[in-house]
Amino acid sequence: MRTVSAGPVPTNGPGVARRSLSILGATGSIGQSTLDLVERNREAFEIIALTAQNNVTSLAEAARRTHARLAVIGDPARYAELQTALAGTGIRAAAGPQAVIAAAAEPADCVMAAIVGAAGLEPTFEAARQGRRLALANKECLVSAGEVFMAAVADAGTELLPVDSEHSAALQALAGAAPESIERIVLTASGGPFRTWTSEQLQHATPEQALRHPNWSMGAKITVDSATLMNKGLELIEAYHLFPVSAGQLGIVIHPQSIVHCLVSYTDGSVIAQMSFPDMRTPIALALSWPQRMKAPTRRLDLAAVGSLSFEEPDAARFPALTIARDALAKGGTAPAILSAANEIAVEAFLARQIGFLDIARNVADTMEAAQAKGLVTAADTLSDVLAADAEGRRLAQSLLGRYV
Ligand code: NAD
Ligand code: MG
Repeated sequence: MRTVSAGPVPTNGPGVARRSLSILGATGSIGQSTLDLVERNREAFEIIALTAQNNVTSLAEAARRTHARLAVIGDPARYAELQTALAGTGIRAAAGPQAVIAAAAEPADCVMAAIVGAAGLEPTFEAARQGRRLALANKECLVSAGEVFMAAVADAGTELLPVDSEHSAALQALAGAAPESIERIVLTASGGPFRTWTSEQLQHATPEQALRHPNWSMGAKITVDSATLMNKGLELIEAYHLFPVSAGQLGIVIHPQSIVHCLVSYTDGSVIAQMSFPDMRTPIALALSWPQRMKAPTRRLDLAAVGSLSFEEPDAARFPALTIARDALAKGGTAPAILSAANEIAVEAFLARQIGFLDIARNVADTMEAAQAKGLVTAADTLSDVLAADAEGRRLAQSLLGRYV
């Protein structure tokens, strides 16, 4: 396994030392689920730093409740507001992107990296350089900067635990297996709210409809990514960097119930799958307590009540994002960073009603083509190369948006 170091680590079981924890993106969907677990296990965790971009009220409340040492707001214009909200508590306040990065470097046993999008790259890299435990939710970091990021993790001896449910499932189904015994890793996808929609219907899909995910409650960006299936494309790239398999060994199957999260096939014909009710607190709990398990207050799985589990092939014609992501993975270098950047721009434009639902994948495909033509798909050897590619990808995607109106 590339993701975790061997041997036991201190756990938060009874009688064991508390674990200190920082949460980057504490006001988001993953951040709030993490806080929920922490607050139900108060004795087990000491909160060091909490960060958020805009929501001072939610950040300050969480910092007060958990007795955090530091609260950081990304938007510098909200610094005074944060100071006022924390007055008299003794909790340090800071603001701005550099302060978010500094929060990631505060000594802590574990950092939950749950900022959304490329904005999470620098803080997550900083956390990776600390050589402790990184609970990784920010998938864009592995997508955009996979090789560079995994090298930073290896150099620092950081213990990397994936929080994405499919990758958490893979970690468990792999159980330290020898790479040569692994035949295939198949990630499941719910298919999102538009699984059964025709292309004609998809053309008119609205942000409200895209944001209504059938199984998972998540932030807006990843919810739209689930509707286009770009989320699964990003997860393929994520899995490629996390696990010792080639791109050809990674597969996707649509599983509308979201009960099975990943299946690992072995050379002897065995298939090991991980199942749980779809609730991110399960994979978050595992990342926080690995290699032990902590209690999570999630709905328990009752297969008889579920009745049946179904699986189907993804439809590449209606959901082209999967093929676009696979192509970017095959090209490598800066291609996945450009893909992820273009997708962020396209999702924002769709949510702002500037483009239609099907234009999201079109915008990403057109950006990839233009980037290739301009010679922007090159090696990505450093974080600076990745950040430059991300900026170019954004510019290009933005400049192409006019095509779809
Ligand atoms: P969200 O939009 O709910 O929350 C994002 C968090 O990041 C917020 O706390 C926000 O304040 C912070 N943030 C936003 N922009 C920022 C910036 N420029 N600088 C600093 N902080 C900023 O997102 P989420 O759904 O919690 O997802 C977080 C990450 O986890 C994403 O990368 C997503 O792909 C991944 N993930 C989420 C889920 C899920 O169930 N929500 C599942 C798997 C993976
Ligand atoms: Mg996932």
